[in-house]
Amino acid sequence: MPRSAPVVLTCTSFLAALALALTACGGGVHGTPGASGLRDPYFPKAGNGGYDVTHYALDLAYDPDEKDLSGTATITARATQDLSALNLDLDGLDVESVTVAGKGARWNRAGQELTVRPPHDLDDGETFRVTVRYSGTPETITDPDDSKEGWLPTRDGALALGEPTGSMTWFPGNHHPSDKASYDIAISVPEGLQAVSNGELKSTRTADGRTTTTWHTAEPMASYVATLAIGDYTIRRSTTPDGLPVYVAVDPAEAGASRKVLAKIPQVMEWAQDTFGPYPFSSTGAIVDREGDAGYALETQNRPVFPGAPDTETLVHELAHQWYGNSVTPKTWQDMWLNEGFATYAEWLWDEDHGGDSAQQTFDALYDHGEDVYEDLWSFPPANPTSSGHISDSPVYQRGAMVLHKIRRAVGDKTFHAIVRGWATTHRHGNVDTADFTAYVEKRAPDEDFDAIWKDWLYGEGKPAHA
Ligand SMILES: [Zn+2]
Repeated sequence: MPRSAPVVLTCTSFLAALALALTACGGGVHGTPGASGLRDPYFPKAGNGGYDVTHYALDLAYDPDEKDLSGTATITARATQDLSALNLDLDGLDVESVTVAGKGARWNRAGQELTVRPPHDLDDGETFRVTVRYSGTPETITDPDDSKEGWLPTRDGALALGEPTGSMTWFPGNHHPSDKASYDIAISVPEGLQAVSNGELKSTRTADGRTTTTWHTAEPMASYVATLAIGDYTIRRSTTPDGLPVYVAVDPAEAGASRKVLAKIPQVMEWAQDTFGPYPFSSTGAIVDREGDAGYALETQNRPVFPGAPDTETLVHELAHQWYGNSVTPKTWQDMWLNEGFATYAEWLWDEDHGGDSAQQTFDALYDHGEDVYEDLWSFPPANPTSSGHISDSPVYQRGAMVLHKIRRAVGDKTFHAIVRGWATTHRHGNVDTADFTAYVEKRAPDEDFDAIWKDWLYGEGKPAHA
């Protein structure tokens, strides 16, 4: 790491004795502040440098009438440099106190950055714990593409959706997909309401008119797929034939309309495991809120959120994301097509395997007149969405899926399925980018030349000349 000149002057006037001086300064000023962003090409302020979070413990209470959230976030992290200060992302809310290793820390806020100055510098490699107490009315964020995320108040409670940056509205953290961690989330709500989150339900306790529910996520989770659904839900717990716990929470108003498709979860999971390989998480399910509670479905980890009863394709799409997105996670938001191209192609494969159009027919229809349905289909290549406002546009989804189909056509079904499964297995719980993907495909099919596919379909501007 670079050490700044003032540090040297503070400790000793002998440059040659720098190493000794730093030791002598012990606990003094040898660290530098961690970066305030991870230089994501589209969300440069998202995430922070200098540390890696291993665990979030969130202890929350929500009052839907007052729209008031109070929380204590205990963040366990490992320093990846000598740190004199570090940043957390937190948008809105009032910070009441910050401690590091139980000792009061100085802090200040600027925009979404909460800068924490520990009482002593943290050493590279040191594991430390930051505890932030906070409260207030969480905000709803309007994304560059005008969709709403963050904290979404609903008729009977609230819904927290975090893609790409909304989770910073309800807890401080390293809010970038490249830093995944395990979670324990405890949420207290007025008695009579339910609170559903990721992972497995550990306990439910009611006292003094409030119910506290605790959820545990052991597998790494990116904060953008963390969720909280507070409201009136009908809960149904079951297991798939191979023993995977299924937890489904449905707003009673959507119960009738969603019953049939939600009953397909075990079947979809079995098909997905046959197609994508072993499921990377310890439970599955769904959260169905009312239509209008959110503007889109989201692949929140373990149990996707649907605004209104989903159709089968949407269920397949969001469950496929558990492999592609939640387990194999993009390094930056530029790589979003690795999530959406796969989840969209999962829909095509499901249709093909269940008496619908073949993937080839879907591909042909898109190539021939896709722009009638998706006006912007050829407006940019999947691997370069050009700006933060376009990461959820059809070139990332439909054209991303077309890239996968081009690979399938080049290598044949057998190798293609090995690639799809192998990609999920090799990078299980990891982070990837587009270069990792093309290198992986080339390694699995060394006799094929993929240059034209990469050049025309993945990185090329405009509609490729040949289907
Ligand atoms: Zn998706």
